[in-house]
Amino acid sequence: MVEHVVMVGAGFSGAVIGRALADEGFKVTVLDARDHVAGNCHTARDADTGVMVHTYGPHIFHTDDTQVWDYVTGFSTFEPYKNRVKSTSQGQVFSLPINLHTINQFFGKTMRPQEARDFIAAQAEDIADPQTFEEQALAFVGRPLYEAFFKGYTEKQWGCSPRDLPASILKRLPVRFNYDDNYFFHAHQGMPSEGYTVLVERILDHPNIDVHLNTEFDPNKGHSYDHVFWSGALDGYFGYAKGRLGYRTLDFEEFHHEGDWQGCAVMNYGDPDVGHTRITEHKHFSPWESHEGSVLYRESARACGPEDIPYYPIRLVEEKALLADYVTSAEAERNVTFVGRLGTYRYLDMDVTIREALDCAQAFLAARKAGTPAPVFSKAPL
Ligand code: UDP
Repeated sequence: MVEHVVMVGAGFSGAVIGRALADEGFKVTVLDARDHVAGNCHTARDADTGVMVHTYGPHIFHTDDTQVWDYVTGFSTFEPYKNRVKSTSQGQVFSLPINLHTINQFFGKTMRPQEARDFIAAQAEDIADPQTFEEQALAFVGRPLYEAFFKGYTEKQWGCSPRDLPASILKRLPVRFNYDDNYFFHAHQGMPSEGYTVLVERILDHPNIDVHLNTEFDPNKGHSYDHVFWSGALDGYFGYAKGRLGYRTLDFEEFHHEGDWQGCAVMNYGDPDVGHTRITEHKHFSPWESHEGSVLYRESARACGPEDIPYYPIRLVEEKALLADYVTSAEAERNVTFVGRLGTYRYLDMDVTIREALDCAQAFLAARKAGTPAPVFSKAPL
């Protein structure tokens, strides 16, 4: 008998797992509460200007995982795109990630790579095994650069001291002693030619998959699916019974302009007295297109309330304790797999989400073959 599975959420997790199971003959229903697929990666053309807007903030595809790259490029062509970010700090515009240009400009010098390396090494603090964001930054680049580029930005972004955040958040960013200003160091980088939503629609375009938008799923009401893949919030599945896991949400103040407003896609604001964290000018995410008008988002972060869209899982000490509680509840469930950023409460890039979704689908299929229980999580949250 053909099994019927449901994907709750039509982001990358639901789409990739759904597609893998559809390819194996499962009947797949995909539900999403929103009026579009692709979750927070959703892109849509602005009706006035024609600009492709990253509705929930900037998403740049970058990966070292060749299988994942082959997967996404199998569904859409990708345009070459290099993420080059600038930061306005203390009245000047600097290049990010911190590179030789940033260092020379910031300190008013003309150092060569090895000189800059020695110079920064002399400023960096001697911290053996950095645990927090602040320790990692001080060990990496020393106090002046930390304060100009990371401290204020991070306080605004996360709403807490960098002393309370894990070092892993900063490890996302490189420091370079040359003039390479590519934000990422991955082998593959690009933008889907027609945006992420078209890419996800194509993943979902399969005779065994049916998609229902504007459709909520209440896990506590009875249903007839053989298995549920839940990519909603882990605590949301349990009706927040033990309390809410903390997230940061984002506010986007949209404004329009004729021509080019800032000359780049992303401008960060490191100063603590500037309320926003960054401004994105969407047309620069599609440099192969040409538009007169421009759509911009002034972005700021705050604590996520019950009615807000959750973006970044905070994962401070209190959240970890609550998370452990929810993990125990999840492990007691039958016929549910919790997947993706919200389902596993982790800060995930798109490529990692896809990797885990591909692996999760394989693990599920293997379990079905062996007659063993399905995986509880696409990847353990703790
Ligand atoms: N960050 C910072 N200053 C910057 C850019 C990033 O302090 O100008 C820190 C900040 O804490 C942020 C983290 O580095 O959350 C990761 O940055 P990334 O650009 O990867 O964040 P995302 O685009 O995912 O929000």
